[in-house]
Amino acid sequence: MESYEIKEHDVLIIGAGGAGLRAAIEASSQEVSVGLVCKSLLGKAHTVMAEGGMAASLRNADPRDNWEVHFRDTIRGGKHINNWRMVEIFCQEAAERVNELEEWGALFDRNKEGLISQRNFGGHRYPRLAHVGDRTGLELIRTLQNHGIHQGLDIYMECCIVELLKEGDRICGAFGFWRESGQFIVFHAKSVVLATGGLGKVFRVTSNSWEGTGDGHALAYRAGAELIDMEFIQFHPTGMVWPPSVQGILVTEGVRGEGGVLKNCEGKRFMFDYIPDTFAAETSDTEEEASRWLNGDPEARRPPELLTRDVVARAIHRERMGGRGSPHGGVFLDISGQRDADHIKKTLPSMYHQFMKLCNLNITTTPMEVGPTCHYVMGGVSVEPDTAMSAVDGLFAAGEVTGGLHGANRLGGNSLTDLLVFGVHAGLHAAKYSKEIVEVAKPSKDLLKKMEQLALEPFDPERTENPYVLMAELQETMELHTGIVRTSDEMEKGLELLQDLKQRAERVRVDGNRQYNPAWHYALDLRNLLCIAEAITLAALKREESRGGHTREDFPESNDSLQKVNAFIHDKDGRMFHEHREREPMPEHLVKLLN
Ligand code: FAD
Repeated sequence: MESYEIKEHDVLIIGAGGAGLRAAIEASSQEVSVGLVCKSLLGKAHTVMAEGGMAASLRNADPRDNWEVHFRDTIRGGKHINNWRMVEIFCQEAAERVNELEEWGALFDRNKEGLISQRNFGGHRYPRLAHVGDRTGLELIRTLQNHGIHQGLDIYMECCIVELLKEGDRICGAFGFWRESGQFIVFHAKSVVLATGGLGKVFRVTSNSWEGTGDGHALAYRAGAELIDMEFIQFHPTGMVWPPSVQGILVTEGVRGEGGVLKNCEGKRFMFDYIPDTFAAETSDTEEEASRWLNGDPEARRPPELLTRDVVARAIHRERMGGRGSPHGGVFLDISGQRDADHIKKTLPSMYHQFMKLCNLNITTTPMEVGPTCHYVMGGVSVEPDTAMSAVDGLFAAGEVTGGLHGANRLGGNSLTDLLVFGVHAGLHAAKYSKEIVEVAKPSKDLLKKMEQLALEPFDPERTENPYVLMAELQETMELHTGIVRTSDEMEKGLELLQDLKQRAERVRVDGNRQYNPAWHYALDLRNLLCIAEAITLAALKREESRGGHTREDFPESNDSLQKVNAFIHDKDGRMFHEHREREPMPEHLVKLLN
């Protein structure tokens, strides 16, 4: 057993995207010692990639907006299975968090009155997304980093956590390794905040980077926490489809927010055919407005391209399946006919450069080819809404790794604000929890020895399986069996294939040594991805209805009785256990807001 580098903190935060950074700032303001770990460089993470903006009812674009309308939109968008208390906290605190960011130096785009400009996004009743061109995440991360480095945080970059450490029922730290040297590091901590983001890499086509391997979901599951609503995956309607090397890269909803329209290969603006029966009435102020929309009036106030992401993604999928797709298997997204070149370059500079650089296409003159891409996971670690603590003592979570807030479908722009709102709750309560604990429990030598063996198993020369091959097979399995449209037969077959992959993963082998060895990193990621792939497929198989980001061809309708329940997954004696549990009913003062 080798000797380890040991670090001790009151609060250890795993993940340095928006949620982790905001949690770290809040925890350190409580004068506890804070360690912040990330597996890439500080300032990377998915948050920096966020383009369109962050949603809050600032009322700059429309004075009728307020937290109550934002609440209604978020619950409707989430198809009524959100954790209502999380949504209430979120909508009430969103504006304060955006304004605070501005006070800390974020330079948002302005409207003519000099107020923060807010743009339209799918499912939001009023223009609500505060933005910085199409580089909002970059500004958010830059601001939090600048603010955070003055708080005395200890930052551990390119350091990957492999397992959480517990003594008895309580969290006592984490075990990880430096990606560059391969040396192990042990963190002793009184509390841990998971802020590890999403899991897009479980699918073949995704907008996520290499970091989106669901580590936090799997770490929490193995530590004994519950995962909630894992069946709900957001397939963003517009990812790049061509050339193959860039497949899945996001084309921001901001393109549609700025007026971009979707067309099939016949030149038809097909989204008018997919407006749900009740939708126009629910989201229009007058019957006349609703009927103009339903009758395909292009001047109707909200274009059908801005229906919620699940609806648009399914519509594109159906157009492609019906043989009306674009040459490379997508559909066309056209902003060139809607806005002049200067406006496009000014409001969507990253999109302009992305298409110019990656496929030599000028979006100011030519339509883009786009198709659905796995983008976001609504499910995640189940936490208590006010404190952000999971079922495991001392384990908190915030950001995309958590579940409950977005229900069955997240509205665009609601993630960035989620990171700030619940980053604060998690950081604050983790710090408070740590203050109550007199001494950090030390993990036993046996436990550390076990962790070391587990991490080094792939170097066993007797093993035979290639981690790259297994990863590709896993992603293909998920794409084909638990993808955008699902059936029970496909998913049962998918679960069988996953069991087979799990067994083969126990024989995964890597060559070379521990210094910057990507194959080894892949082998460790595989363990997490297989765990969450099973959770997604199991939860999807058990939900026999279609709702939000979960579409069943064999159960195409929503089922009212399933609207009352959420799916919980936890480990029971080494096996994955799934159950549906009824939510506490929404209190009357919130029910009123939905009407
Ligand atoms: P992330 O920002 O993903 O950060 C995760 C952190 O955890 C990273 O630092 C990573 O290194 C670390 N980590 C992970 N595993 C480990 C481990 N094992 N050990 C150590 N560290 C680990 N949302 C919006 O609201 N508006 C938008 O306009 C928008 N646009 C988007 C555009 C793109 C291209 C993408 C991919 C997403 C977009 N989203 C948007 C979604 C949003 O960006 C993400 O949901 C959000 O940034 C997630 O933030 P996070 O802090 O939870 O995690």
